[in-house]
Amino acid sequence: VAGRIRDEDIAAVREAVRIDEVIGQYVTLKPGGAGSLKGLCPFHDEKSPSFNVRPAMGHFHCFGCGEGGDVISFVRKIDGLTFVEAVERLADRAGIRLTYAEGGPTVARDVGQRARLLAANSAAAEYYRQQLHTSAAARDGRQFLADRGFDRDAADTFGIGFAPRDGESLIRHLCGRGISDEDALTAGLTATGQRGPYDRFRGRLLWPIRDVSGDVVGFGARRLFDDDRIEAKYLNTPETPLYRKSTVLYGIDLARKEIARTSQAVVVEGYTDVMACHLSGVGTAVATCGTAFGEDHGKLLRRLLLDDAQMRGEVIFAFDGDEAGQKAALRTFKADDQFVAQTYVAVEPTGLDPCELRQKSGDEAVRELVARRVPLYRFVLASVVGRYDLDRADGRIDALRAAAPLVASVRDQAKIGEYVREVARMIGLDVEVVRAEVEKITGASRRGRPASRQAPGRDRQLQVERELLKLAIQRPALLGPEFDVIPMEAFTDPAYRAIVAGVAAAGGVGVAAGGERWVESVTAAAGDDAVRALISALTVEDLHVPAGGEPDGRYASALVARTQELHVSREITEVKAKLERMNPVTQVEEYNRLFGILIGLEQRRQQLRSRGENGFA
Ligand SMILES: [Zn+2]
Repeated sequence: VAGRIRDEDIAAVREAVRIDEVIGQYVTLKPGGAGSLKGLCPFHDEKSPSFNVRPAMGHFHCFGCGEGGDVISFVRKIDGLTFVEAVERLADRAGIRLTYAEGGPTVARDVGQRARLLAANSAAAEYYRQQLHTSAAARDGRQFLADRGFDRDAADTFGIGFAPRDGESLIRHLCGRGISDEDALTAGLTATGQRGPYDRFRGRLLWPIRDVSGDVVGFGARRLFDDDRIEAKYLNTPETPLYRKSTVLYGIDLARKEIARTSQAVVVEGYTDVMACHLSGVGTAVATCGTAFGEDHGKLLRRLLLDDAQMRGEVIFAFDGDEAGQKAALRTFKADDQFVAQTYVAVEPTGLDPCELRQKSGDEAVRELVARRVPLYRFVLASVVGRYDLDRADGRIDALRAAAPLVASVRDQAKIGEYVREVARMIGLDVEVVRAEVEKITGASRRGRPASRQAPGRDRQLQVERELLKLAIQRPALLGPEFDVIPMEAFTDPAYRAIVAGVAAAGGVGVAAGGERWVESVTAAAGDDAVRALISALTVEDLHVPAGGEPDGRYASALVARTQELHVSREITEVKAKLERMNPVTQVEEYNRLFGILIGLEQRRQQLRSRGENGFA
């Protein structure tokens, strides 16, 4: 039976951890309006930030995909944890000791799969690390590192380890740590042979691969011995619930902060290159693990770089100058336009990789390699054009025909002109000749595109109601009891009415102190998921105070008045319509009664209008 964490402890955890710090590990956040932070959503793919965090409310919300909640829901969602696991993880972080409602901290709890696999990886990483330093058989591993200029400190910084050759001692070690055979297998640490499970990485030098938060999700393993049963030089953890090679970047845990700070990421090819870069002072280096750099890697980096229209991060690929490197560059070029605009290539003319370069020429040479980067488009165009004999007229035409489709594939119109000039210069042709060739291609594709549709104008009425509800959720103290007496009919959208009902059920704005607890109780009173999602959005949405001022009591009062005024206006329209349909001669009594109501409503509207004027000039 799972122990239940006491509510007080959960509240203490919520209070102790800062939501912006926790989320900041995964997403680089920057100021986005009063009291809120913005970044690129980790839960859906986007190119301009619609992911909002409001630290004072302890709440996040994405206006793109609708994900939202408190810090616990963020951790649950991003790492696929259960509620209890998420609380435990945050409590660890904050140094809070949790007590469990049933049976105290020793109670046997259901530990979720992710936590179990992480524990298995962490135990294995520690074991391997010790083996590297203590086992005689690890001599070749230590020598491998020394040969590449890595001392013991460097090995420890990166947690490098050695897997004993017998293939069984790891299993015994894990067993002693209470890790089941099944979890070791699922984590990819072991494989099953004819005589049962064995250490998948036996006899290899190991790099633990961590995710952004520093958890070991897998390993990269290099062959050391000629009699290794597996030929491959490098062996990686297979796909597991923790390890997906399409999203894993080696070194991201160490590089994350520096990538956010400098808006630059360097992608290199191997584990030793990442080490060499970091040790040389290029602290933004990462590498893919046993796969080419793909779309998901790009998304991960972009979130950390906070790439958007205002901020342009740089991704620098330290490709090999060889054909494989050129192919990789070309693939990247075709993959994503916006990404390409900020993509650079660092090529070492001697063909040395960063690890070799550091050994031969020192730390500074590695930093220089990165500093000498060239835009990816120039690198790609140069390598395409470079295949032709440009001294011959037909060679120049062939080069143009090869380069033009690449230029035409760029969606960013502003860039095309730049690339056209670049190609003209490279081939030695007139700019207009190149432009004409490119336009032959772009003209054909542009004709097929539909005109962009204009976004529908927002309904003024709903906008006012929404502003008022935001205030009721974010700043209830400003509104006070005058909110609670607004008739339900003043809200025109059923979802808004549900929130008003939730506010009432939570005790009303008049008594609310605000903050996380208030949001929580309104959310708890909400009827369904759609309403809860809306509350989540309203919790982080910016307040649109006229002229960008701070919301105050006068503004709050004006919003209430405006909402009521719009409601009274609708009533007036209804009464007028009824009067129209009446015969003042035959229905004189009813007509006079309604007419009296109309006069009353008109007066009320006039009062509300003057009260509301301050807020809506
Ligand atoms: Zn989203």
